[in-house]
Amino acid sequence: RKAELARLKDRPTESADGHRVELAANIGSVEDVAKALENGAEAIGLFRTEFLYMGRTSLPTEEEQYNSYKHVLEKMEGKPVVIRTLDIGGDKELPYMSLPKESNPFLGLRALRLCLSREDLFRTQLRALLRASRHGQLKIMFPMISVLDELLEAKRLLQEEKEKLLREGAVVAERIEVGMMIEVPAAAIGADIFASEVDFFSIGTNDLIQYMMAADRMNETVSYLYQPCHPTVLRLVQTVIRAARREGKWVGMCGEMAGDETAIPLLLGLGLHEFSMSASSILPSRALIGTLSQREWEGLAEQALTLRSQQEVKQLVRERLSRPK
Ligand code: PEP
Ligand code: MG
Repeated sequence: RKAELARLKDRPTESADGHRVELAANIGSVEDVAKALENGAEAIGLFRTEFLYMGRTSLPTEEEQYNSYKHVLEKMEGKPVVIRTLDIGGDKELPYMSLPKESNPFLGLRALRLCLSREDLFRTQLRALLRASRHGQLKIMFPMISVLDELLEAKRLLQEEKEKLLREGAVVAERIEVGMMIEVPAAAIGADIFASEVDFFSIGTNDLIQYMMAADRMNETVSYLYQPCHPTVLRLVQTVIRAARREGKWVGMCGEMAGDETAIPLLLGLGLHEFSMSASSILPSRALIGTLSQREWEGLAEQALTLRSQQEVKQLVRERLSRPK
């Protein structure tokens, strides 16, 4: 089985009926890139940059960040690298920033909200990203957007820093895709509002499901509500993919759901373009997708959307997967 998977390492990801998708890796550090490549990642779908800020006593400088981004881009040798801007707050704290205590941190000043309120910190990261862009295929992604103004403000700051750098004579890649995470229900329901303003979406199901179900993702006593294959979750995923498609944009997923073997056939059927997951899930997922007919799963995903529970959806998937083609 291991040797079989190893043979898929440098292969494209293709369904049995010839539909191509991309399997990418989630990483939290420069060191993680090696493991991503060993496991056949076609891209980095999510670089969680908050780890550059954690486990230290002060903010990372522009130069430190530039070096990290540059290394990741270089090691990926021109393959796409989606770098997410700082997603701190919620469960991830930065003691040295002495942020005000919040009674509901997951509903508070986290991620892009914090970055927009601390422009200096955000601009430093944007400059580091822009300067690193010439070392590979960088795509910049903003987390935790709820309303259009947040996206427009983030894009405005990015554009301003880009113009400043160019005036200073720095080299910036000509084309940098800019995208946003879809992890707030309002952004998912209103994905059409955002679609013309981005190059791509990446669905963050860890947070999206938490907010949809009103169930803290860290709280084990309500973890039964974390249901990636619930029909309502699938419906929302479909809404996002359709909105993007109408504008000719691509959609990825970088929450845990993207590497869930029960969810993968349904996501393939719904037309997801990129699946970003932990490195160790990539080769098994590529093998699984190779056995599936995208056309057939389009129909089965439609059927799943009409069911009443995650249990019924799982039953549908399991039943089809256990039957020979
Ligand atoms: C998500 O919310 O699904 C996600 C990928 O981001 P994080 O897990 O870092 O919050
Ligand atoms: Mg998230």
